[in-house]
Amino acid sequence: MKRVLKCVKCGREYPVDVPRYRCDCGGLLDVKITKEKKDDFPHLKEIWERRKCSSKPIDQSGVWRFRELVYPFKEDEIVTFPEGKTNLYKLPAYLLDVRALYAKHEGENPTGSFKDRGMTIGISFAKKFGYKMVTCASTGNTSAALAAYAARAGLKAVVFIPEGKIAFGKLSQALAYGAKTLQIQGDFDDAMKAVQEVAAKHRIYLLNSLNPIRLEGQKTIMIHTLEQLNWNIPDWFVLPGGNLGNTTAFGKALMELKEFGIIDRVPRLAVIQAKNANPFYLAYKNGFKEFKPVKAETVATAIRIGNPVNYEKAKRSILYTKGVVEEVSDREIMIAKSQTDRLGIGCEPASAASLAGAKKLRKKGIIKKEDTVVILLTGHLLKDPGATTDFHLGKMEGIPKSAINMPEKIENDPIKIEDKIKEILQE
Ligand SMILES: *Cc1c(COP(=O)(O)O)cnc(C)c1O
Ligand SMILES: [Zn+2]
Repeated sequence: MKRVLKCVKCGREYPVDVPRYRCDCGGLLDVKITKEKKDDFPHLKEIWERRKCSSKPIDQSGVWRFRELVYPFKEDEIVTFPEGKTNLYKLPAYLLDVRALYAKHEGENPTGSFKDRGMTIGISFAKKFGYKMVTCASTGNTSAALAAYAARAGLKAVVFIPEGKIAFGKLSQALAYGAKTLQIQGDFDDAMKAVQEVAAKHRIYLLNSLNPIRLEGQKTIMIHTLEQLNWNIPDWFVLPGGNLGNTTAFGKALMELKEFGIIDRVPRLAVIQAKNANPFYLAYKNGFKEFKPVKAETVATAIRIGNPVNYEKAKRSILYTKGVVEEVSDREIMIAKSQTDRLGIGCEPASAASLAGAKKLRKKGIIKKEDTVVILLTGHLLKDPGATTDFHLGKMEGIPKSAINMPEKIENDPIKIEDKIKEILQE
C-alpha cells in the first residue's frame, strides 16, 4: 500500500511522512492510499476479525485493529489507551419508525468522545517525528483527548478554547491531564485561526481535524460499525456536523472500502447541524454553489462552529454517498438527548443532533420506513453535566413537562419518606 498527501484542490502530492497541513496552493490535503500488488485486501475482514482474540493493545484497539487502512506504524510507535472499543446498540422502535435503528456510541472512548480515534494516530505521529509539543483549538473534546494522549506520550500540550463556552466535563479533563489551557477571548473560529498561526511559526504539531492524519483514525468509526453489522450495509449513517471532520473521514472510509473490494455498496450520510450553526446546511441547500461562514450559537457546544475547515472534503462525502444535510433546533436536540439518556445510554447535546435529525428526515419521508439507520453518538453524557441538569431542572424553554425528571426535596422524616415511596410505587 502506498500513501501520499494529496491536495484536494490542485492534485499536487507531498510525502506523507513530512508533517504538513495544507498544500502550497492553500488547498486541503488528503492521505491518498493506493493499492499495491502485494496487498491482500479480500482477506482484511478475516485478519481484523482474528485480531479480536489477541491481547496486544494494538489488536485490542478499535483503531489499530484496522491498521492497514490507518497508518503503518511499528507497534512500539503507537500511543494508545487502547481506544475505539465502542458498542453498537439496537434502539427501540418507538424512537424512529424504521426497519432497524442502531446507535454507535463513541462516548464510550477512553476520554469520552470519538476524538480519541484521531488523537491516537495524531500523537503517535507527533512522537515519531520528534515533536516536543502539540496543540489544537477546540470546543472541548479535542483538547480533552489531546491532553490525555500527550500526557501518555510525555509530550507538552497547549490547547486554545473559546472563553466561557466550553462544557465543564471537557475543561476539567484538559486541566486534569495537564495541558496548558488558553481561554481565548472569542469563539471557536477565532481560536482556530490563532492556533494555525502559532503552528506555522513554531515547531509545534497541530492536531485539529484540518490535520489529514487525524482523520485517518476517525475513518475507523465507519469501518468498525460496518463490521459490527456483519458487513450488512445500512441505508443511512446519521451524524452531527461541526468542523466536518467525521463527515470527511466517513466519506473517505467508504470510498476506500469500496475501491478495495471490501464492501460493494455504501450507506447514505445524513449530516445534522444545529439551526444557528448551520453553514454546511445552507451550502447544501443552494446546491453547494456557495459557502458562507455564519456566527454560530447553539446549546450543542461541540458543533458550535461557524466556519468548518473541512468544508470542501465534506462536500465530496455528501456527493459521493448521495447524502443529505439537515438542521435541527436546540429544543429538538435536547428532547432527542433526553430520549437516548432515558435508555441508559446517554450522550452530550451535540451527539443527540443525530437522533433529532433522523426523526426530522423520517418525518419528511427522506428516511423511509423500510430503511436501516445508524445514528452516531459522538460524546458521553458526563461531558456536559450543565446542559443535562438545566434541562431536568426546568431551566430550558419549550421542553414538555413529561420529558423532565426534576429532583424533589424531601424532609428527613421517616413518615414523609414512607408516604413518598408509596406514592412512587403507585405511579
Ligand atoms: C468534535 C465533535 C463533534 C463534531 O464533529 P466534526 O467531525 O467536527 O463535525 C460532534 N460531537 C462531539 C461530541 C464532538 O466532540
Ligand atoms: Zn494544491
